[in-house]
Amino acid sequence: MIPYSHQSINDEDVEAVVDVLKSDYLTQGNTVSAFERVVREYTGAEYSVATNSGTSALHLACLALNLNKGDWLWTTPITFVASANCALYCGASVDFVDIDPKTFNMSTNKLKEKLEYAYKNKCLPKVLVVVHFCGLSCDMETIHALSEKFGFSIIEDACHALGGKYRERPIGCCQFSDVTIFSFHPVKSITTGEGGMIVTNNDHLAANIRLLSSHGITREPVMMGQKIDASWYYEQIALGYNYRLTDIQAALGITQMRRIDSFIERRHQIAKQYDVLLSGLPIEAQNRTKNSYSGMHLYVIRLQLDKISKTHSEIFNELRNNGIGVNLHYIPVHLQPWYQRMGFNYGDFPQAEKYYREAMTIPLFPQLPDDNVVIIVEELHKAIQ
Ligand SMILES: *Cc1c(COP(=O)(O)O)cnc(C)c1O
Repeated sequence: MIPYSHQSINDEDVEAVVDVLKSDYLTQGNTVSAFERVVREYTGAEYSVATNSGTSALHLACLALNLNKGDWLWTTPITFVASANCALYCGASVDFVDIDPKTFNMSTNKLKEKLEYAYKNKCLPKVLVVVHFCGLSCDMETIHALSEKFGFSIIEDACHALGGKYRERPIGCCQFSDVTIFSFHPVKSITTGEGGMIVTNNDHLAANIRLLSSHGITREPVMMGQKIDASWYYEQIALGYNYRLTDIQAALGITQMRRIDSFIERRHQIAKQYDVLLSGLPIEAQNRTKNSYSGMHLYVIRLQLDKISKTHSEIFNELRNNGIGVNLHYIPVHLQPWYQRMGFNYGDFPQAEKYYREAMTIPLFPQLPDDNVVIIVEELHKAIQ
């Protein structure tokens, strides 16, 4: 089976990890801060905090933005469940904004309408989680202008988008957001096994996130309530978590970051081949807008089922049976049983639901060989015609 994604690991990665294993510190040495610096310099953000997953990064971002019971977090229904669950961890409520059928990202028009309605009904969100779906940036300039008008904070869930750009600047520079979070799960742009990172330009948020990522414990005299002059002394000043990344993982992250640009370039090369070789088929690909350089995390196609004699799942199964590891990103979050129990239902976000009836992710990762691209295209032609 050709998988839909696969990590790229080379000898340099292996050696870097082995070096840490042979060193004194497997965690809480200085490799994590070195990795944080690499991501900070790459994105142009001023502060960075490594975490043990993208999910814990989302949780910490919500906590630092003071998301509480009684508050609302809005996100897109077409995302991984973690983009919404982070609100529930904080006791807050979740709502969704339907997608744009062409970009598959949150619709800026729908967001505007929903904000105007929420303003009148006094139920504006405190936090908006935008997801750069497949690596394609959302319309951040417009969304940022709306955040100024309606007074909400913005988290960029850039788990698909590390290595991408928006208006010539790297995703993660936080020009139009409060924080950006990344994941380093093996299917993402770079990997540390499990892992994540939060970047921000806000020193107060960064300090709070760092504190909460490690039990709420500080050794910084300026942050302590009492002045006890003993070298063992530390204080727990908040209820934090153990969301730290290990030095073993960070070492892998550093060597992976050396190859990020070539990873993304190769992803674009394959995507362009798909664009050309699939152009005759009754499918639609994501409309990759001009002002953005996608992180190209996923290549999603939408089947034009009215022009095809088979069903969505027939085509999906046929491809899988023929060795093509297609996938589906994602089942709309509001249709998950956990969310349906909160009152969401079919019909709530029609564009997301229509997308779900038609979507399919085809394989895309840097080491996918050209001859596999040809095989995938042939199988797609056979399955769809
Ligand atoms: C992968 C992913 C996450 C979660 O990241 P983990 O590191 O797996 O916790 C969150 N949001 C999106 C959009 C993702 O793709």
